[in-house]
Amino acid sequence: MNNKADVIIVGAGLHGSSAAIHIAARGRRVIVLDKGVGGRHSSASNAGGVRRLWRHPDELPLACEAASMWNHIEEIVGDNCGYRQSGHLKIAENKTDIAKLEDRLTTMKQLGFDHEELIDRDELRKWAPEVASHCAGALLCREDGFASPFRTTSAFQNKAVSNGAELALNQAVAGIDKKAGSWIIQTQDHLFEAPILLNCAGAWGDKIAEMIGDTVPLSAVAPTMMVTPPMPRFLEPVVGAVSRKLSFKQAPNGIVLIGGGYRGKLDRDTGFTQVDYSALKLSAQTVIDLFPIMKNAQVVRAWSGIEGQTPDSLPVIGQGLSDANAYHAFGFSSHGFQLAPVVGKLMAELIYDGASSLPIEPFSPARFHDVEIRNPETAQLSA
Ligand SMILES: Cc1cc2nc3c(=O)[nH]c(=O)nc-3n(C[C@H](O)[C@H](O)[C@H](O)COP(=O)(O)OP(=O)(O)OC[C@H]3O[C@@H](n4cnc5c(N)ncnc54)[C@H](O)[C@@H]3O)c2cc1C
Repeated sequence: MNNKADVIIVGAGLHGSSAAIHIAARGRRVIVLDKGVGGRHSSASNAGGVRRLWRHPDELPLACEAASMWNHIEEIVGDNCGYRQSGHLKIAENKTDIAKLEDRLTTMKQLGFDHEELIDRDELRKWAPEVASHCAGALLCREDGFASPFRTTSAFQNKAVSNGAELALNQAVAGIDKKAGSWIIQTQDHLFEAPILLNCAGAWGDKIAEMIGDTVPLSAVAPTMMVTPPMPRFLEPVVGAVSRKLSFKQAPNGIVLIGGGYRGKLDRDTGFTQVDYSALKLSAQTVIDLFPIMKNAQVVRAWSGIEGQTPDSLPVIGQGLSDANAYHAFGFSSHGFQLAPVVGKLMAELIYDGASSLPIEPFSPARFHDVEIRNPETAQLSA
């Protein structure tokens, strides 16, 4: 492999692969480095939720554009990624929950978003016939859905390669230096070189940022999933709850996937994770409380991934602080799957057009520091 490129991306998960698709499509030479196979801990092992419902307002412009892209995902990456527009529900269990849904709807209307609607008890039962009798209503986003994480990650990686990007897998980045205007990136086997560096290192994004000279606060967390054997079909939409940790869906083959933010234990340095059985018990109880049909369900597999969590649960997207030829897109805080198609496109725009077509200021790494770019002589883009 010729180790020189126009852009080197660290991380071959969904966000690194998505950026590679769009940058390579502009005729630029891209090398994507990954310490493993790319996305093993997050992109390929998550819950697959494609959700605008209940998102932070700052993320909604990106999430709305991503939703349109998911509707054409086969044209974008050459595979439909198992995407299904099933609808998403956020269930209210009592009057207090209903009041929260009403407040949310008011906020959405004030901001000009109309993707969410409030449904009453009877309408909820039409969408989820097996829901527990105490559930009082829900917020619904009809156009949300879910996809297959492994299939999606493979499709994004394959499309990046077919656009001309090169994936260098099992290449852990151990050091980054800058010489004569180029980044020199050292892995255990090789040196790679490029004028532009894009950090898509997920839960390890703060480590790569540090090598570039940027300090970004990030912790690694281990969201946990459980899966049942195939059950008779009883649920079409993806379900969450206002006051409980829940992400609940039934795949087309009948298996039920249960997540929602209960966490396991992890060692970020080795990538080792372990499910926490007391958390699994709470997760199972939540599901039984809201869907009594699950009372006798079996769990055949459980796992914990590794995800980057920022202090404000918003991702880090934008130009580097200490060098204008470094860029970041990491720390998606357990909801980056849906955003993957659009963030890669925005990174290509930011790098080569000098600005992104959607607002990314709320995600700047500078929000944690309140500082100006420290190295003004490199502040011009080298497009
Ligand atoms: C259990 C679970 C459930 C989730 N459910 C949902 C959901 O339903 N909906 C949703 O929108 N989001 C969900 N998420 C979040 C979503 O999976 C992530 O936000 C998204 O996949 C992040 O993608 P990424 O490319 O930034 O990171 P990753 O997929 O983690 O990719 C980062 C890559 O960087 C590589 N890397 C790191 N350090 C180095 C280094 N030094 N050298 C070389 N390579 C390096 C890693 O090996 C990794 O492959 C969930 C996450 C988990 C764990």
